[in-house]
Amino acid sequence: MVDMELKTEVADARNLDARNGVSRRDRFLIPEHNGEQALYFLGNSLGLQPRNARAHVDKVLQTWATTGVEGFFRGAEPWLQFHDTLAAKLAPVVGAQPAEVVIMNGLTVNLHLLMVSFYQPRGARNKIICEAKAFPSDQYMLETHLRQRGLDPSEIIVEVTPAEGSATITEAHILDCIHQHRDSVALVFWGGVNYYSGQLFDMENIARAAHEAGALVGFDLAHAAGNVVLRLHQWDVDFAAWCNYKYLNAGPGAVAAAFVHERYHQDATLQRMAGWWGYQKDTRFKMQKGFVPVQSAEGWGLSTPSPLLFAALAASLEIFEYVSMEELAAKGQEMSSYLISLIEGINTSAGRTIIQVLTPLGVESRGCQVSMLFQQGGLPVFEYLSQVGIYADWREPDVIRVAPAPLYNTFEEIWLLVQALEQACKKFLL
Ligand SMILES: *Cc1c(COP(=O)(O)O)cnc(C)c1O
Repeated sequence: MVDMELKTEVADARNLDARNGVSRRDRFLIPEHNGEQALYFLGNSLGLQPRNARAHVDKVLQTWATTGVEGFFRGAEPWLQFHDTLAAKLAPVVGAQPAEVVIMNGLTVNLHLLMVSFYQPRGARNKIICEAKAFPSDQYMLETHLRQRGLDPSEIIVEVTPAEGSATITEAHILDCIHQHRDSVALVFWGGVNYYSGQLFDMENIARAAHEAGALVGFDLAHAAGNVVLRLHQWDVDFAAWCNYKYLNAGPGAVAAAFVHERYHQDATLQRMAGWWGYQKDTRFKMQKGFVPVQSAEGWGLSTPSPLLFAALAASLEIFEYVSMEELAAKGQEMSSYLISLIEGINTSAGRTIIQVLTPLGVESRGCQVSMLFQQGGLPVFEYLSQVGIYADWREPDVIRVAPAPLYNTFEEIWLLVQALEQACKKFLL
């Protein structure tokens, strides 16, 4: 490419950045490579550290140091109030009422707990419909959860697979499968955004189809929360769970969260695993016999929460408070569109498909993540990216995933990424 063209392209990318008001890049710490800011495209794996995270965590350490256990009850921000303050800020990110959100545990733990309440097999109505090749932890969760309830996973789980030669599952295929099993399905359990392909599913339609078939519906939102617009309450979803360390930037091993639709909050017939932190608040510390749940999603809580982890989440949610998910998701989708168009440019110049985009091309079916399949093996390309300070993700045997996070990545960074990709393709694949 001649210099002029390159200059125009960079200028285009910079224009896109200038036009876009959503960036909060200055509020994050950007990892460095050789003394310069690295290109970090792994917000789908571990979101970057908000600048204010340290101050929030330090404050808890300080309170602990100076007041010990009194930190739960005393001071301007007693730890006991953290949960409700944070749930109120997290709820709009997923389209929930504050009372429908509980912040606790890790994602996989929460899925097990929610399955206790919301997988209710009754006679022949005992099937679980889910996506084939779901994230491994979700597969292990289902498999072991069913076994400990005395059920054989191979008889219960119905997996919906992508069409031959495709990484994505068509909506028609999902809805068909639900309809076909309308006499035997107890639960539809699905991912909001698939971790491998980046496919965003129409959760509203899936929820409706599940309910029409007489089943409940739950979503794993690990790759959806903070990435795409969610309206869990309005879509009438029964339950959902997500981690807060991916697009929600609450730090490694961050405390996770769950959604329980309000219609269940007073339902005393639901099974659940309980602990004292889910016990009704006004009498919790009377330590009485017999479990009485809080009448909100918090009634699914068990253990003393960690104010340290809550503090890191608070730092992150402070940023989300001033950006709507509509704006953020729109920018994320614009970023993945831009990235896909530049990748197509590499294929066009090469005169053949070197990089196949696995992520759906339709903007309504993806968030910010783009998954690239390398027809001739992409490992040297991935290694090259790492060497020049680009953080991307490698999935055996031939996929590179990148996620430009709209809060802190820029269009210019995407342009630079594709320049590096093109260099690497020329070096190793052409
Ligand atoms: C990241 C991810 C997980 C991780 O679960 P943890 O319990 O937080 O380790 C689970 N499921 C999906 C779909 C994920 O993307």
